[in-house]
Amino acid sequence: MTNNQRLTERDLAVLWHPCTQMKDHEQLPLIPIKSGQGVWLEDFDGNRYLDAISSWWVNLFGHANPIINQAVKRQLDTLEHVILGGFTHEAAVELAEKLVEITPPGLNKCFYADNGSSAVEIALKMSFHYWRNLGKTQKNRFITLENSYHGETLGALAVGNVALYKDTYGPLLMDVITVPGPDCYLREEGESWEAYSIRRFADMEQALARHADTVCAVIVEPLVQCAGNMRMYHPVYLRLLREACDRYAVHLIADEIAVGFGRTGTLFACEQAAISPDFLCLSKGLTGGYLPLSAVLTTDAVYQAFYDDYQNLTAFLHSHSYTGNALGCRAALATLGIFQSQDVLGSNRNLAAAMARAVDRFRDHPNVAEVRQTGMIVAIELVKHKAGREPFPWQERRGLRVYRHGLSQGVLLRPLGNVIYFMPPYVITEQEIERMVAVAWQGIQQAVQD
Ligand code: PMP
Repeated sequence: MTNNQRLTERDLAVLWHPCTQMKDHEQLPLIPIKSGQGVWLEDFDGNRYLDAISSWWVNLFGHANPIINQAVKRQLDTLEHVILGGFTHEAAVELAEKLVEITPPGLNKCFYADNGSSAVEIALKMSFHYWRNLGKTQKNRFITLENSYHGETLGALAVGNVALYKDTYGPLLMDVITVPGPDCYLREEGESWEAYSIRRFADMEQALARHADTVCAVIVEPLVQCAGNMRMYHPVYLRLLREACDRYAVHLIADEIAVGFGRTGTLFACEQAAISPDFLCLSKGLTGGYLPLSAVLTTDAVYQAFYDDYQNLTAFLHSHSYTGNALGCRAALATLGIFQSQDVLGSNRNLAAAMARAVDRFRDHPNVAEVRQTGMIVAIELVKHKAGREPFPWQERRGLRVYRHGLSQGVLLRPLGNVIYFMPPYVITEQEIERMVAVAWQGIQQAVQD
């Protein structure tokens, strides 16, 4: 028995893995990872895997990054964690200052939590509670986009719209208003992303016109609906949405948990539309992929609506035990320090161009309906027939074949259904990009055969 097999056996005896049909592991090997370095992960038998998906989109500057390692180690010897109710610490303060400085204008207050879904819950609760504190108790609903994803806890799941994750729990979820989104995969042939995104806004305008009185906020993933198969849209939609939310007195929640910190080409995706949301949800890349931490940035106006004598019971009485964890904050500060000391966005532009060149040949593949890209995110939509974009039946799990092939060739791809995508750490080299894409190409060639 190999070292991998030994650990796998122990694992499967006791561990229940996230987002997994555990029975799959009767056939599909579980990969026990011993160590990571840069874009590479190494298992217990010495096999290496290029982490093409940044370990669920969290890793920015590589595994075992020396700068972040140092910062966390130093913090560890000083203060690992302290309650953030009634107490504070240097890393939490410094990080909040930094986030206020680098996020879009007007976001002046930072509320911490410890994962993305919790950040979404906080934004939803804060928005609802804001209107309530203002006496607008009829506002108790949310508008969301088709194909959106905001996390797995019940509130976050309710404002999401990916059937695979949501439908089972339907009876438990609050009712939301779901509007057709600007997903540009669905545009007419020859129509530009911009024209389509503008056209799709009519549905949002209509929903706001009808429901604004009872709606607290619209929640969106700016520019890329990541868990919804990496579907993309034009920034103009965000500009129109900001303007309409103002007009209808409805909050705008921007969930940049997946797209923040440079993934779309700018530090935050909202920058491409030159807008500030009322709530900005951050997590994942916030700590460079090191530790669970999230933050909700909001405005002075929101903060002030809660600021009152205790007896008036307007306070936001929401907490998580690990809120503002010191090690997480330190990892985040080190991560943001890298953005400050190096031209990360500039170097990402070169990497994004290299990815674009590498995937160009997929465009003519008979089983590829679309190759799309926003900054450092590239996705390939696999279909049964290019003409008419007829999809493969989902039961055939073609994407899984690409995953298997990737593993056999040392590349960790984790397709979303039949969408193969790349979202690598920013320390990837052009050579590694070519390797990653070549393996995906071979994987697709095999996956489309009967
Ligand atoms: N929002 C978005 C846009 C996400 O992509 C995710 C995670 N994939 C979440 C929220 C939830 O974050 P977490 O998994 O940390 O709860």
